[in-house]
Amino acid sequence: MPSLSLTFLGAAGTVTGSKHLLEVDGRRILVDCGLFQGLKELRLRNWEPLPIEPASIDVVVLTHAHLDHCGYLPRLVSAGFRGRIFCTPATKELCSLVLPDSAHIQEEDAREANRHGFTLGQLQPVGYDREVPLWGQTRPDLGLTLVPTVEFINAGHLLGSAYARVKVAGKTILFGGDLGRYGRPVLPDPTPVPEADVLLLESTYGDRLHEADDNGARLAAIVNDAAARGGKLIIPSFAIGRVEEVLYWLKRLEEEKRIPVLPVYLDSPMAIAALQFYSARLNELDADLAVSETRSQRPGLRDSVSEVRSQRFGLRDAVSEVGLQVRGLRRVAAFATTRMTMIASPRQSADLIASRQPSIVIASSGMATGGRVLRHLAATISNPKNTVMFVGYQAAGTRGRLLVDGATEIKLLGRVYPVAAHVERIDSMSAHADYSETLRWLSGFTRAPGMTYLVHGDPVALAALAGRITAEKQWPVHVAAHLERVAIPA
Ligand SMILES: [Zn+2]
Repeated sequence: MPSLSLTFLGAAGTVTGSKHLLEVDGRRILVDCGLFQGLKELRLRNWEPLPIEPASIDVVVLTHAHLDHCGYLPRLVSAGFRGRIFCTPATKELCSLVLPDSAHIQEEDAREANRHGFTLGQLQPVGYDREVPLWGQTRPDLGLTLVPTVEFINAGHLLGSAYARVKVAGKTILFGGDLGRYGRPVLPDPTPVPEADVLLLESTYGDRLHEADDNGARLAAIVNDAAARGGKLIIPSFAIGRVEEVLYWLKRLEEEKRIPVLPVYLDSPMAIAALQFYSARLNELDADLAVSETRSQRPGLRDSVSEVRSQRFGLRDAVSEVGLQVRGLRRVAAFATTRMTMIASPRQSADLIASRQPSIVIASSGMATGGRVLRHLAATISNPKNTVMFVGYQAAGTRGRLLVDGATEIKLLGRVYPVAAHVERIDSMSAHADYSETLRWLSGFTRAPGMTYLVHGDPVALAALAGRITAEKQWPVHVAAHLERVAIPA
């Protein structure tokens, strides 16, 4: 029998740096290739050499385009990895936004980059629910008797997100990636899976339950308060995933007449590009969105067009800019609020920052650690008419965390500003299953996996989830340790 083993090269005992090495008779498949993020001692791991030679990896498989799952790829390639990288088509599109691509650098450096750099051409898109071989007739040196296959199954965590189901030598190994949630807008529920011999399961919220869904009530209250004060509502947001959920809710609350129709500005080139990728793949998203898109085809969109026409951005070629906006809004109709404007140029952004018009501005980054949102905050944070609303997790040490913890002044762009604006936060928009949702997904299994390895969690969350799975399902569970290597029994 062939020998199969797993080695945990990242996201073991911690939430970032996902890298799981599957070895099949000495051939190597790396599932996910993520960056370590957060605390400095973790980030330093990104600079340590991998314990295996990157050139010895045959293929990489990606579960989704979050940097803690794909952000190490450019480094892996510059260290010698030359193989194919399997992922879903949408993951490839989002990787084109989040990963530096050497194909885009200056021409004079191109030859050097092509020898040592990452190019998106290495990404091999494979649609959902298609089992494909990881290597084939063209690589007889890789052993034709044992050709593993991979199949991507929609995980409902991000556009393009998947579990990677790898089959080899009669064994099924399910790499869970990140697990989405049930009954949420924008993304579909995580797909049930009936069985696997080995399961790798994320544990981000292994010790927690999310806030109960309030059907947008808290967001509506915050928007109404902001509108009543006649100020701006600034929403720092991660550019991919969270923006779509915020827009979905704003559009829905407008349609249900639970909030007034305000100008909504999306001021993030990456978010605008991602929104177009989301809009082009409604069939991979929650079924609700297609309905929402149909509703938007007529009156709302006409309003958007006239809104765009009435903008005064001082552009030299205002007419073509309007044309771009209109075409852009049609492309993202499923997410377009009644008076939405996508801000393309830095000039438009500067004009928006200078404007006192009551409005909603969505800009990245989500924790106010960088990006265009810093200038919006600097212009609004000291006026009590304005509101700043955080919509995601705020890591320790970030400006976002300082503000939600009640800081009375904040340093932005080299200057200290007193905080007078209202600071709000909404915690309900997480994209990770909590422990009850994780157990609900596990209940889709018709037989217990031979072993469930818990990864992608802090120690407390990992231990809590291990305890719950043992108590409720009596499955064998093991919390993976960093650099641990385990055999998969034949
Ligand atoms: Zn993720």
